[in-house]
Order: sequence, then structure tokens, then C-alpha cells
Amino acid sequence: MTSRYPTLLSPLDLGHTVLRNRVVMGSMHTKLEDRLSDLPKLAAYFGERAKGGVGLMVTGGYAPTWRGWLAPFASRMTTGRHADAHRVVTDAVHEHDGKILLQVLHAGRYGYHPFTQGASSRKSPITPFRPRALSTRQVERTVNSFARAARLAKRAGYDGVEIMGSEGYLINQFLAARTNDRTDAWGGSAAKRMRFPIEVVRRTRDAVGDDFIVQYRISLLDLVDNAQSWAETVELARELQTAGVSLFNTGIGWHEARVPTIVTSVPPGAFAWVTGKLRKEVSVPVVASNRINRPEAAEQILAAGEADLVSMARPLLADAEWVVKAAEGREREIITCIACNQACLDHTFQNQRASCLLNPRSGRETELVLLPTRTVKDLAVAGAGPAGLAAAIELAGRGHRVTLFEAADQIGGQFKLAARVPGKEEFARTLDYYRHMIDVRGVTLRLGTRATVDDLAGFDEVVIATGVRPRIPEIPGVDHPKVLTYQQLIDGAPAGDRVAIIGAGGIGFDVGEFLLHEPHEPLDDWMRRWGVTDPETAPGGLATKVKVEARRQVHLLQRKTTALGKDLGKTTGWVHRTTLKDSGVTMLRGVEYRRIDDEGLHLTVGDKEQVLAVDTVVLCAGQTSVRELAEPLRERGVTVHVIGGADVAAELDAKRAIKQATELAASI
Ligand code: NAP
Ligand code: SF4
Repeated sequence: MTSRYPTLLSPLDLGHTVLRNRVVMGSMHTKLEDRLSDLPKLAAYFGERAKGGVGLMVTGGYAPTWRGWLAPFASRMTTGRHADAHRVVTDAVHEHDGKILLQVLHAGRYGYHPFTQGASSRKSPITPFRPRALSTRQVERTVNSFARAARLAKRAGYDGVEIMGSEGYLINQFLAARTNDRTDAWGGSAAKRMRFPIEVVRRTRDAVGDDFIVQYRISLLDLVDNAQSWAETVELARELQTAGVSLFNTGIGWHEARVPTIVTSVPPGAFAWVTGKLRKEVSVPVVASNRINRPEAAEQILAAGEADLVSMARPLLADAEWVVKAAEGREREIITCIACNQACLDHTFQNQRASCLLNPRSGRETELVLLPTRTVKDLAVAGAGPAGLAAAIELAGRGHRVTLFEAADQIGGQFKLAARVPGKEEFARTLDYYRHMIDVRGVTLRLGTRATVDDLAGFDEVVIATGVRPRIPEIPGVDHPKVLTYQQLIDGAPAGDRVAIIGAGGIGFDVGEFLLHEPHEPLDDWMRRWGVTDPETAPGGLATKVKVEARRQVHLLQRKTTALGKDLGKTTGWVHRTTLKDSGVTMLRGVEYRRIDDEGLHLTVGDKEQVLAVDTVVLCAGQTSVRELAEPLRERGVTVHVIGGADVAAELDAKRAIKQATELAASI
């Protein structure tokens, strides 16, 4: 069979070693890095991905000194004991012919602890701790600590290191005038600011010899003010290459940048062009990254000459078998990362173990195991939203006979609605995955069938995943013709030019985007809207944002007095808030709803009464569970499991639904 991905799946000769393909699993902190006792779990995690065909993997960041920690007692590579404990990880990868790099990351002023050190004592806007400026002697020692970490990585059996020189961590802090006001040999001019990474690479190469990969993650777009110019970036890259870099990986945006770089609404492959610019300036291979999640897109980037390899972190977290599925023409079986961040980065930032919303086994490879069943049962699943879909395919995957009932004429439930929100178009891929897996795993799907107690009573066990219905708040006039539920709106009911949204949870924000924006935003428009430009025209690639004319006047409302969107995802909420604010949405909190009539929506805010003269009111006031089938079935002696929104509607999300479904599937 000829591969559809001839470049992506072709080997890459690095001189002393050969990568089996061009797929790199980018660095991502899973929280399994921090304690040596968790390394066997980390080994299982990387081992599965090596088995799944990934060419080169990069661990989460390991600090070269304790003061370079990301957080207290977080991962570091500073002693022989650390190195020896990592053997289990490197052995698990090599057993399946994969290669793995240890990422060396000094957090600098991004460290979340009081002992941070930086190029200067300037505090970052995203951490509460002011760093101490490294003394000249401490700079020397810190440079050497990178080389020591690399030597230890070699002792641990790693194939190389990735030196983290982007995202605003210590190396970036040395490079940019915004964070480096030193007057010694490590600051003052662009050439002196570059000395730190150049020395890090030179001493690392000296420490590890030629038969070891030194990948450097270079910041190609800082996306902050007072950043490096493109000419400086190119000069840095050339110097680093001379100092011994084997591969350049792409870094986009400091963590404090106010431009989204990885969330769902960032267009696919949005930054490959800037990797292409670097590729013209250096002779070692370059790696493209950010928002690349499908094999066809990865192949296209390589075929267009924009990069030599493609890095994906979350997509390979979502599916350990991504490469093998692509290679075997089973692309529709790939669990495509939808860039939601809900179970991965949001977890990391909350100090929890990273996993995947769509694949709860991820990061729990040794704990959540779905083995073939020894007792095949006839099982019914009622409801084909995320919970029911996940339960059906995982139960069938274990060998059970599964019938899936769905009242609508399509699968998807609430997820189907999410897929129609601009910026969330990729959610449709999840539905396609489930549609396909229903066939692959032989689930009997009965669409347009609202299951009754009689339909279900004959099965050995029944899973109730009938989901939720929108809550209708008790507001006088809520039955006025201008009132729609979010479901009716997204299903196609027309809205006027002036709209009030009742409820500012995840769905209220989504409805705001639905009312204001078009789907499939072209990359150029997205770049203008967020102020991203060619770094040759503005240092760091940061330009003035171009305001987009709003299609409607929208008011977003809640009763609580806290900031709107406060409970949205840690790493995505700010993007939703900024998008709606930039589109002129009025946000009101502490609202009391009085009535809805021809005039509009009558409110009290504080002690002031007012009327919002709107044509449409959209209800996004949460949901209530639908589980009427459960009790009658139990009364007839059937074993019933209630999962997802049918179980608990409050703060329901697909992450909880799919996790609960998968855990249930492992247990029947
Ligand atoms: P939600 O997050 O629970 O929000 C419901 C909203 O309705 C709240 O703002 C609440 O605010 C308001 N509300 C509740 N009862 C009300 C009542 N009786 N009258 C008037 N207002 C009322 O629910 P959701 O927005 O439906 O979202 C459901 C789930 O999907 C959530 O877990 C959410 O995180 C998830 N989701 C996430 C995203 C994302 O971007 N990550 C996107 C979509 C959905 P007040 O009580 O203050 O008025
Ligand atoms: Fe991708 Fe969301 Fe899974 Fe993270 S949780 S890997 S962003 S699908």
C-alpha cells in the first residue's frame, strides 16, 4: 500500500542516528514527571506512544537547578539518582524503537515559588513571585547546570535533550530587552543577550559529544512587546547551529502573551509559515508546531517545504496510535485532539495529572485498562451524546454486544451543538470518529428511536446516557415568542439584531460567539483580529489588533456578582472573554431578571431598573437531567447504570461524561 503521507512517514537521518519518521511528540507536562515513584507510569505513557509509531518524543520540562523549578518540588534533573530512575522511561521507549529527548527547562521568573531567579528582577505579569536577578557567577553556574542536566540525560539513556528556549522561560528572559536589563557580559546589547543560550548549547554539546541529539526550541514569535527582532532571531539560530544544535523546534508566544496560540479557535497550522521562514536561514532540520493535529495537514506542511518534521503534543496525548493509524489508512479511527485544553493543560495549571477529554486512558495507562471481556453480555445504551457514545464503543471494544438508541436522527447530543460554534468546528471530527467507530466495533445503532422501558428491559444491563435538557428559568414572560433556548438557536431558529443572553457559563459564551462570528475564520482575518504579523515587520510578530465590525448587539448576563466567565477553562477562558469584549458584547453581572415582554428584557442591576430593548432572548441557564427511564427499569429488575448529564447535570461537561463512560465500560 502506498502511503498517503510519504514525507511524514519517511525517515530522517541526523548523521549519528536515524529517526523512523517525521512525527515528534512535543513536550507536555503530565505531572508524572515530578515524583520518581511515578516514573513507571510515565514509562507506560511514553511506551504506548513509541509502540504507536511516534518517531521522536520529548518529555515534560526538567529543571537543571532546583531554583529553576516550575513549582515547588516539580521535576528536575540534577543528580545521578534522578538519571538512574529515568532508565525505566528510556527503556520503555527503546523497546519499541522510539527515540526520546529530555526537555531541560529553567522556568526563570515563571517559576511558581518564592525562590525564582531571572535575567533581571522584573516580575512576570502571570506569577505572584518577584525573581532575584542572577549574579554574574550564578549565570555561569546556571549555564553549566544545563550541560550537567544533558550529561545526566545521556546517562539515563535519553537520545538527546531539548533545550527550552521559548515561551518566555529563562532563556527567553535573557534574550529579550523587556526582561534583560543587565549591564554585565550577559546583557546590554542583542549580542550579549544572546550569549546565554549560545553558551548553554556550546557547553551542552561539549558535555554530551556528537552522538546525542541537541534540539533547541527557539521562539519564532514572542508575541509580546519589546521582544527580539527577526534579524536577531536569525542571528541567534545561526550561532546556535554553530554551537551544536541538531534540530530546531518552533516556539510560539510567551506564556504572558495575550494572543491565543493553541486553543481550538486558532486556525489549524496557523504558525507553520514562520517555521518556513526559519528553515530558509539554517541548514539543520526544523520542526513545525502548534495546532497541527491531522496527518493530511502535517504532510501538507512538510510537502510545502515549511518544515522537516512536525511536532504534536496534545494530538499524541489524545491518541497513542496516531502514527500507526495514519500509516495503515485508518485515519478515521484517530482520536483527533480538538484543542479544548480541558483535561490536559487546564489540569496541569491546576496541579492535576494531565489526561485527555476524549481519551481518559491517557496518562492513566496502567490504571484504566480495557481488557477483552470473558463474559459477553447484551447491553443497551440509551442516548448517543458523548457519554453514551464513549460507553457504546468502549463496551463493544471489549467484546460485548451493544445496541445504542438515539431519539434524534443523528448522534452527538450536546456535542453536536458545540460543533456548530465558530472556532469549535473541529468538534465535528469527534462525531465523525464516533460514527466510524460504531461501525468498526459493530455497535447496533438505532437512530430516531426514543428507547422505551419495554425496548430496554430485555437486555442484560442498560446504560442510561439520555443527557440533559436546557433549564427554563422562572422569569415572567419566558414563554414570549422572542425567547429561545440555546438549543433552538443553534438548531437554526433565527435571532434578531439585538440579543440578550441569560446565563454566562460555557454555553452563554459559546452562544455569544455563535451570534457574532462566522465559522471557519480565514487565517489572515484571525491574525489581524489578534494582532499577529510577520516578525520581520514588527519585533515579536505583534501588531495592533484590527477591530472586527460586530454583526449584532449582544448583552451577556448573570445573577452572580463575580466576573463573567470566571469559571471557564483556566487556559481558554481568557480567550473567550477577550473575543466577546473585542466584539463589543456588554457584560452585566449581579442581574435580577424581572420579566420579558414586547419591550425587551426588564432587569434590576444593583438598585437600578432597566430595560434591554432586545429582539431575542437566549436562555443559557444550565440544564436539568433526563433520566426518566432509570427507575422503571430498576423496578423491573434490570441492572441500570446512569452516566453523564443524565447522572448529574450541574456543570456537566464532555470531560466528565466520557471519563465516567469509559470507567464504566472498563468495569462491566
Ligand atoms: P453553567 O456553566 O452551569 O452555566 C449556567 C449559567 O446559567 C450560569 O451563568 C448561571 O449564572 C445561570 N443560571 C443558572 N440557573 C439559572 C436560573 N435559574 N436562572 C437564570 N440563570 C441561571 O452551564 P452551561 O453554560 O450550560 O455549560 C454547561 C457545561 O458545559 C459547563 O460545565 C461548561 O463548563 C461546559 N462548557 C464548557 C465550555 C468551554 O468553553 N470550556 C463551553 C461550553 C460548555 P447565574 O446563576 O449567576 O445567573
Ligand atoms: Fe486535545 Fe482536549 Fe484532549 Fe487536551 S483534552 S489532548 S486539548 S482533546
